[in-house]
Amino acid sequence: MRSPLLIAAIICLLGPAAGLDAQAPAPGPSPAPPDPIKVLVGRLDLEKYKATVKGLTQFGDRRQGTDRNRAAVDWIEAQLKSYSCPTDRIKYEYQPPPQTAGRGGAPGAGGGRGRGPDEAQGGGRLRGIRARIGVNTDPNAQPDVRLRELNMQPMTPGPREAVYCTKVGTTHPDEMYIVSAHMDGHGWGEAANDDGSGTALVMELARVFSGSDVQTERTIRFVLWNNEETGSQAARAYIAQRGPMQGKEDPPGSRKYPEPKWLGMIQHDMMMFDHGMPRADGTVASEQRPEADVNIEFQTNSKMAAESQKLAWIFEQANEKYATDYPASVGSHMTNTDSGPFQDLIPAISLRENERGTQIGAGWDPQWHQPTDVYVTYSDADFRLGLNAAQTTLGAIATLTVATVNVRN
Ligand SMILES: [Zn+2]
Repeated sequence: MRSPLLIAAIICLLGPAAGLDAQAPAPGPSPAPPDPIKVLVGRLDLEKYKATVKGLTQFGDRRQGTDRNRAAVDWIEAQLKSYSCPTDRIKYEYQPPPQTAGRGGAPGAGGGRGRGPDEAQGGGRLRGIRARIGVNTDPNAQPDVRLRELNMQPMTPGPREAVYCTKVGTTHPDEMYIVSAHMDGHGWGEAANDDGSGTALVMELARVFSGSDVQTERTIRFVLWNNEETGSQAARAYIAQRGPMQGKEDPPGSRKYPEPKWLGMIQHDMMMFDHGMPRADGTVASEQRPEADVNIEFQTNSKMAAESQKLAWIFEQANEKYATDYPASVGSHMTNTDSGPFQDLIPAISLRENERGTQIGAGWDPQWHQPTDVYVTYSDADFRLGLNAAQTTLGAIATLTVATVNVRN
């Protein structure tokens, strides 16, 4: 390995006249074929990611149980179909509990029950300066009249739907990873970050993996949950309805598996905003902090903690290998998102802009559930953190499902 460098150094010293053309081709084995996963990660693009977030924001806050939410489900399904990713829906009923205010019942373990003053939801410890958090329920807090009107229809109890699409594996069609985000929001904004950013990430991965020249040995299901903000009712319905179907070939002998065995669940919820701890006056810096990272969390107080932690480190390694800008870090207090209902059943992790309990829960994201969670709030540095999470998950899932690409010229 040393001599070509020496030759190059000598050529440099001799100047351009010596030219690299004078070099004979180096003997030895032919160069390694390009890493197919790198090829796939290269098909992610900041502008496409932004355009998908933007597309989701045309439906306002996409609150569950409204026409704007149903229109968003239809739009997402149309996009997935246009990527050649075959779609289906999970159907369930949602009846809000009596006197619900904001979030009805916190999903996931470790939250809520007898927490001390410094204990975060999910079990972490709150440190440093905290800012006020909550869900905006006041229409007049939205200064944009058009958006206020768009978000005006209240939710009504009743039937609900959530859409998903599936990339079927070649040699292990009966085994599957679930890659997901929630498409509903609230707060009288556009739910651009919570969770348009995760929804767009999952849609972008569906697009890339559905490329006609892409194969995976195992199956991947891309799920856009509904009703996360009311307690993950779509995720719970999915587990109840489809859990018992896992791994069953139907019809027998067909090599078709309507519900492959679940190998892991990876949730994406709030991907873009990592501006650091609030300042003493409660405000947060206007720029993405240079130290911004992707937070990969598992829940240490879950039955699958060991397996989930192993999965988290696979994602951390994929980030090191494939993400272009921002690093990832692993934490042990996953909470308050759709991976919660899965955490005692299968390996389950979440990817986020910050730790959910100790950081988002301490007011690090001032747009969270607020009228300011709109597309124009975010800079390219913010969108890029979401793109880096997409690169991380794409790299990890392509590795775990053994993705290959037939590169054609
Ligand atoms: Zn969310």
